[in-house]
Amino acid sequence: PAVSSNHVDGHPFFRFCQTALEDIRAQGRYRQFTPLARLADRYPLYEQPETEATPSTPACPEDREVVVWSSNDYLGMGVEPVVTEAAIRAIHEHGAGAGGTRNIAGTSPVHTALEAELADLHGKEAGLLFGSGYVSNQASLQTILTSMPGWICFSDRLNHASMIAGIKGARGSSTVIFEHNDLADLEARLAAAPKDASKLIAFESVYSMDGDIADIAGTCALARKYGAMTYLDEVHAVGLYGAQGGGVSQRDGVADQVDIIEGTLAKGFGVHGGYITASSNIVEYLRLTASGFIFTTALPPAVVAAALASVKQVRKDNWRRERIFERVDTFRAKLRAAGIPFNMTPSHIVPIPVGDARRCRELSDRLLNDYGMYTTPINYPTVPRGTERLRLTPGPRHTDAMMDEMVAALGKLLRVNDLAEASAVAMA
Ligand code: PMP
Repeated sequence: PAVSSNHVDGHPFFRFCQTALEDIRAQGRYRQFTPLARLADRYPLYEQPETEATPSTPACPEDREVVVWSSNDYLGMGVEPVVTEAAIRAIHEHGAGAGGTRNIAGTSPVHTALEAELADLHGKEAGLLFGSGYVSNQASLQTILTSMPGWICFSDRLNHASMIAGIKGARGSSTVIFEHNDLADLEARLAAAPKDASKLIAFESVYSMDGDIADIAGTCALARKYGAMTYLDEVHAVGLYGAQGGGVSQRDGVADQVDIIEGTLAKGFGVHGGYITASSNIVEYLRLTASGFIFTTALPPAVVAAALASVKQVRKDNWRRERIFERVDTFRAKLRAAGIPFNMTPSHIVPIPVGDARRCRELSDRLLNDYGMYTTPINYPTVPRGTERLRLTPGPRHTDAMMDEMVAALGKLLRVNDLAEASAVAMA
């Protein structure tokens, strides 16, 4: 059938969209998605662009292998046979979809098993699954902060959009934004708040764009001193940090001091879905009242079974954690030796500062088209203007040879495009 266009071209919203898109393009922030086919036998070493590329996709030679440098499937668990086979078995056993919301016929034994596994991973009484990490933050924070009158949420300035959505959506509560990872500022704001107000501190462990890590013990100490609860997003840490991949709170031995730990099954665990773990009364309250949990179809059992297999495997395999950090260290050493600027972080994330949206896009396009290396340009609004960057996430299967290729390509492109100058400014 013919593709229909707007039948009210004159409507102000149509013109509004057009202008907004023109502005985004003019600022070099237009986003093109590069379709990548994930090959189970080779991923994450290689991914192959689809041969039938849509016209807006950057031209990429057909059948060429592309090394992916920006995956959030940090450990490559999404294509581990133990994970994919669990999904296939669950499809045969339970079908393709959940069949309903969790309350209405959508709960399978794998859902409850995964919730128990995650609670155990974080040393909490209970766990609750959501459709994604985004939904777990949005739904949990909004529900908690509207539960009783007078909540004050102390929110780190760089918290993820999903936390902000939940905090902003909680009508009746108030929000105090504290400076990023700044305990002195947090304490000053806690001290200034009414003593008897219900307080919640919402923060992340690994901040994914800058790659820095919060002082969880320090934050929890302040929480105790001022009678606040703590809500910690460990999305970029679960699987990677802690003796069993329980995140930075596990690594630092302070998981018991955090009231609510939130995570995703889509990054270190390589599958899909979000969750919180907490005391059973909090989890039960959210299970029975959180709109974003109740009124949506449950995660497909195959996805849940895959996630469960992944969590169990990642908990056991400490070598996966050792391997990723060894790879990250090796990559940084190679960048340093070649004089390529990068932001040193205490995490597994390697930001290459560029400092300009158009240059960032260009650098990313050239890496893909000329060198077959896929990187994502990180632009405003994900990061502030002037701090645009490539965000590289070396993984367990990036070889030394691949790293050498990336370092050589970056060295050449940064020189050729004068990008080194912009980077130097961004580093200052
Ligand atoms: N929290 C943080 C800090 C994130 O970066 C993200 C996603 N990038 C989310 C939550 C949402 O997780 P998910 O992708 O599972 O929706």
